[in-house]
Amino acid sequence: MEYYRPQHLKRVLQLLGGGKGKAKLIAGGTNVIPDLRGKTIQPDALIDLSHLKSLSYIKEGNKSIRLGALTTIAQMASSKVIKNYAPILSEAAQQLGNPLVRNRATIGGNLSDASPAADTAPPLLALDARIITENATNNKKAIPIDQFFKGPNQTVLKRDEMIKEIIVPKWTSPHIKTAYIKLGLRNSMSISVISMALWIDVEEMFCKQIRIGLGAVAPTPIRALKTEEMVTGKEITPDLIEACGSELKKEVRPITDIRASAEYRREMASVLFKRLIERVTFEQRE
Ligand SMILES: Cc1cc2nc3c(=O)[nH]c(=O)nc-3n(C[C@H](O)[C@H](O)[C@H](O)COP(=O)(O)OP(=O)(O)OC[C@H]3O[C@@H](n4cnc5c(N)ncnc54)[C@H](O)[C@@H]3O)c2cc1C
Repeated sequence: MEYYRPQHLKRVLQLLGGGKGKAKLIAGGTNVIPDLRGKTIQPDALIDLSHLKSLSYIKEGNKSIRLGALTTIAQMASSKVIKNYAPILSEAAQQLGNPLVRNRATIGGNLSDASPAADTAPPLLALDARIITENATNNKKAIPIDQFFKGPNQTVLKRDEMIKEIIVPKWTSPHIKTAYIKLGLRNSMSISVISMALWIDVEEMFCKQIRIGLGAVAPTPIRALKTEEMVTGKEITPDLIEACGSELKKEVRPITDIRASAEYRREMASVLFKRLIERVTFEQRE
């Protein structure tokens, strides 16, 4: 296997587009190294991104936060900008893996690996983030995150394309609330059994707009679009919350695996929704 460690993005893109057989990008390596050891991947070339310092940043703009693809989960977890403008992403970063993993793991790697349980995906779905990609011919795309995942470990990224940055819109309305829960088999160092992120524009219990991001309940991280539709433009009442919980059970498509049964995940989707919506609406009343 050939190994490259470019210093500049231009060279990475050249290598990706240069017909180096099956080339594999490696960022933090927390997925790639176990996959290489387990022989579940056998690339002809490894392109190490770890010296591309230009893609490791968290920048605050007027309307959005921009995160370079090589920003580590630890940098996200300790960032005041993320805590202020995307608290659910901050919470998810703080709960991903363990300190060693968070120091190496990157946001670009978490999204590109496309695990159904990828912890940064549900908050980014709820925050309506966009993924900026670039390819060997310098063609850039802004992909809405709900169109990025195709299946377990599959994304819409082409062979010569990579994630450059992630854009998280800032919100200005004081009526927007967010909340996040990750349910694992223990409190730290656990892959999600199910995770949920909520973004809601709610005033006096009236929901103007809502986005629900879910992890580990379908072949990819998903938005619960049908449930969102049930709440949008409505007064949030106990009956509506109950009805939404039932709708969510139908909307998710979980599997049974070593961590939990499909039935449990379905049930917990409904329970977590109730907890999150009660958490944000309770804040409203306080
Ligand atoms: C002990 C342990 C615990 C873990 N716990 C969690 C957890 O709790 N939650 C969780 O979500 N994950 C967890 N993971 C998985 C992993 O740490 C994360 O998915 C991590 O964010 C991957 O990032 P990375 O930089 O290490 O990716 P890498 O392993 O370097 O790459 C992962 C994939 O992304 C591709 N890639 C990397 N960067 C780019 C880019 N810029 N553009 C396009 N493709 C790219 C690579 O080619 C590869 O396919 C855990 C892993 C370990 C080993």
